[in-house]
Amino acid sequence: MDRNRSDLFDSWESYHKTCRELSHAMASQPGSQVRLAKKTSNLFRTRKEAAAKRLDVRRLHRIIEIDPAGRTAEVEGMTTFEDFADATLLKGLRPPVVPELKTITVGGAVSGIGIEASSFRHGLVHEMVEEMEILCGDGTIRICRPDNENADLFHAIPNSYGSLGYILRLRVKLLPASPFVKLIHQRFSDRTQFLSTMEAACGQSPHAPDFVEGVAFTPNDFTLTTARLTHDRGPVSDYKGMQIYYESLRSRSEDLMTMRDFLWRWDPDWFWCSRSFGMQNPLLRRLLGRWMLRSNCYWKIQSLYRRWKFEERIHVMRKILHLPIELSEPVIQDVEIPIEKSLEFIEFYFREIDIRPCWICPVRPLDAAGNWTLYAMEPGALYLNFGFWGSVRTSLDKAAGHFNRRIESIVNGLGGRKSLYSTSFFTEDEFWRIYNGEAYQKLKLKFDPQGAFRSLYQKAVLGH
Ligand SMILES: Cc1cc2nc3c(=O)[nH]c(=O)nc-3n(C[C@H](O)[C@H](O)[C@H](O)COP(=O)(O)OP(=O)(O)OC[C@H]3O[C@@H](n4cnc5c(N)ncnc54)[C@H](O)[C@@H]3O)c2cc1C
Repeated sequence: MDRNRSDLFDSWESYHKTCRELSHAMASQPGSQVRLAKKTSNLFRTRKEAAAKRLDVRRLHRIIEIDPAGRTAEVEGMTTFEDFADATLLKGLRPPVVPELKTITVGGAVSGIGIEASSFRHGLVHEMVEEMEILCGDGTIRICRPDNENADLFHAIPNSYGSLGYILRLRVKLLPASPFVKLIHQRFSDRTQFLSTMEAACGQSPHAPDFVEGVAFTPNDFTLTTARLTHDRGPVSDYKGMQIYYESLRSRSEDLMTMRDFLWRWDPDWFWCSRSFGMQNPLLRRLLGRWMLRSNCYWKIQSLYRRWKFEERIHVMRKILHLPIELSEPVIQDVEIPIEKSLEFIEFYFREIDIRPCWICPVRPLDAAGNWTLYAMEPGALYLNFGFWGSVRTSLDKAAGHFNRRIESIVNGLGGRKSLYSTSFFTEDEFWRIYNGEAYQKLKLKFDPQGAFRSLYQKAVLGH
C-alpha cells in the first residue's frame, strides 16, 4: 500500500473547526436551499440544475481516529471507502462492509444504501455505524446514536440521501483483516441449483465464508464466488492491469488476491461496464489503463455524455443520414428481492430486461433492521441484490421509462426494495407508501422545517 498517514488522517481540532464553519454557513442563510459541493459522486440520476447554496464539505474527507482495541474508527462523512479501507488496513483492520467502488463515500453509502459480498454476514453499510454527527437544516449539529435523544434521526438517515441532514462524522465498527483472500468460483447452468447453493453458502454458522456473491452471465450460466480471509501465501492475481476480474470467474476455479486488491476487484472495470468505454480492448488497456482503470473515470465520462446530450445528437445525425435509429432505455438499478422470490425475479429479468451480466449479492439485514425508518427490510431474512447497469432496446409505442417501471412494479409485487441512487418513476403516492412517507414527513418537519434540503421524492424521482 503506497499511502502515507498524513494523506489519510485528520485531527479532532481541524474536524471541529470545519464543523463550526459549516454550521455557521448553514445557519447564515435560513430558508435557502442547500446542495453538497464535493469532488466525486456515484449517483446515476440526472439532477436538474437549480439555484442552491453549495455547502463545501470537501475538507471532511479523512479518518480522525482508529481505536484498535475497541475496533472502531471515527471517520469524516466525505471520506472515500478507498481511503477508509487503506487507513484501517494499516492497523490490520477492515470495515465490515466495503462497497465495491473506490470513490463511494462513507456518508454517501450510509445516506444511500450500501452493500457488498460480506453483507450476508454483516448487513448493510449503515448497520456498521454506532454514532453519527449530523448537520441539520438550521445549522444545528446533532450527535445521533440508536439509544440517545436523536435516535429517530439516526434510524431515518439510511435512504434519506441528504434530505434530512448531512453526515459529518461517523463512528464505525471494524473487524480484523488478513493479508490475503482466497476465492473459489463455481459454475452452474441450472439457476435453481445456483440459488440453493448460494443460500447454503450464506448459512449463519461460524464456518460460513467471509464473502459470497454471484454473477449471471446468461440465463444458463451463473457463477458463485465464496471467499475467505487467509494468511496463507501464494501467487496472487492482479486485476488492475491487463487481466479482467469478471472474465476470471469463468476461466478459474480458485484464486488468491491481496486483501486490498480483493476489496477493489470490481473497480478497475466498473464491474464489466468498462466494455462500453473500449477499455477491454488489450491495446487501449495497455495504452490508457494507467489513467482509465478506475470507476470514477468512467463515471466522469458518462456524466459528460449526459451533459452533452451525446445520444440525442447521434440520433439527429442518423436521422439526417436516413440511417435506422435504435431506441434504448437506460436501466441502471440495484434491487433487493427475498431469496424465496428470486427465481421468479430471475425469470422476469431474462424475459424482459436481459442486461448481461447481472451481479447477484446476498444481503441479510441484522436483527435491528426493523428500526430503519426509510428502508425497512425483514431482520435476519436473506435477500438477493440484483445489480444491472446498461440499457434495454425499446420502441416508440412504449412510454418513457417503460422497463424501469416494470422493474419497480415487479420488485414491489415480490416484496423487494429498490435502491434510489438511479432513476425512479414512482408516483408520489406509491413512493411514500413504499418508503414510509408518514414517518418521513414528521421527521422532515422536525429536522428541516425550513426545507433547506430537497425532499426525498424531489431528489429520487423528480431529479431536483
Ligand atoms: C454502477 C453502480 C454500481 C454501484 N454498486 C454499488 C455496490 O456495489 N455497492 C454499494 O453499496 N453501492 C453501489 N452503488 C450505489 C452507491 O453506493 C450509492 O449511489 C451511494 O449513495 C453513492 O455514494 P457517494 O458517496 O458517491 O455519494 P454521492 O453520489 O455524492 O451522493 C449520493 C446521495 O447521498 C447524499 N449524500 C452524500 N454524502 C452525504 C453525507 N455525508 N450525508 C448525507 N447525505 C449525503 C447526496 O446528497 C446524494 O443525494 C452503485 C452505484 C452505481 C452507479
